[in-house]
Amino acid sequence: MTTAYITDARVQVHTLAGHIENAERLAAVQQRIANEPIYEQLLKLTPEPISDAHILSVHTQEYLNLLKWTEQQNGVQLGADTYALPESLSAARLACGMALRAVDAICSGEAENALVAVRPPGHHAVPDMAMGFCLLANVAIAARYAQAQYGVQRILIVDYDVHHGNGTQEIFYEDGSVYFCSTHQSPWYPGTGLLQETGAGKGKGTTLNLPLPAGVGDSGFKRLYAEVLWPAARRFRPHLMIVSAGFDAHWRDPLGGLQLTLSGYAHLSRELIRMAAELCDGKIIFVQEGGYDHEALSCGMLNVAYALLGLETVYDPIGAAPRSEPSIEDLIRRAKAIHQLD
Ligand SMILES: [Zn+2]
Repeated sequence: MTTAYITDARVQVHTLAGHIENAERLAAVQQRIANEPIYEQLLKLTPEPISDAHILSVHTQEYLNLLKWTEQQNGVQLGADTYALPESLSAARLACGMALRAVDAICSGEAENALVAVRPPGHHAVPDMAMGFCLLANVAIAARYAQAQYGVQRILIVDYDVHHGNGTQEIFYEDGSVYFCSTHQSPWYPGTGLLQETGAGKGKGTTLNLPLPAGVGDSGFKRLYAEVLWPAARRFRPHLMIVSAGFDAHWRDPLGGLQLTLSGYAHLSRELIRMAAELCDGKIIFVQEGGYDHEALSCGMLNVAYALLGLETVYDPIGAAPRSEPSIEDLIRRAKAIHQLD
């Protein structure tokens, strides 16, 4: 089994001192993985920056024009929380290029699965706007690329970041060829991702939101995957899976209130890898999203690398969550009813 590992320090020019989404996040991940013996086993690949055409596969021309304008400015805010420096669009093109390089590796048979260590993240970027530290919709552009370049028909995107992947949802809301499942804290930023948001038109039924009360941890997530995601994935029968791998649902993350542990995250990642093995010849790509406790983020990514390589190792130096978990019995019942999963 070959696992591709794609990262690139050139994206680190996009960083703002004092902002929580800064270069130290990716540096922590890269340092953690590169210092492990398994680093030698990973197939290291180099990305290319994406073109305007790739950006326009999900974003509007007006938004691309705005991003190009930021290259001439001296640092601007796009919305309340997202910064753009003169170097940011170039960095974001390369960041998204990492996800496309992973698609190339999987679809050409160069690798069976892939891990993309990347920033800025992408799942909040909507067609016409930057949002939530995200400039380009990395995972969505990669999914469109897999379809256009390799004829991949059905793609399952699973998002376990603590925040709802509103950008991904919006892009594929009326597209039945991409199934989007997000587990996220609710109510929480960005406010979308209700259970009742299930897609529209040809995409009716292919958006699966699991909004979670604060405190849901390992055992709750385990049940959601077993009782809701698994049957939904089996019914959809994807040809490729892409994971929006955010680690801010870890209990120690400063931006989230869910209670996952590193061991809990490792279980979810392994379930997704098992799902890909059963449904799509093991074709799965993990793309880094949020995660603001650098130890939880970097260890979480390392555990994905172990799992993708088929190793049993789970590294959890942080340990158990401090609080008990609320019941999600009712959520599971309603999700199964709305999505007809019984
Ligand atoms: Zn997040």
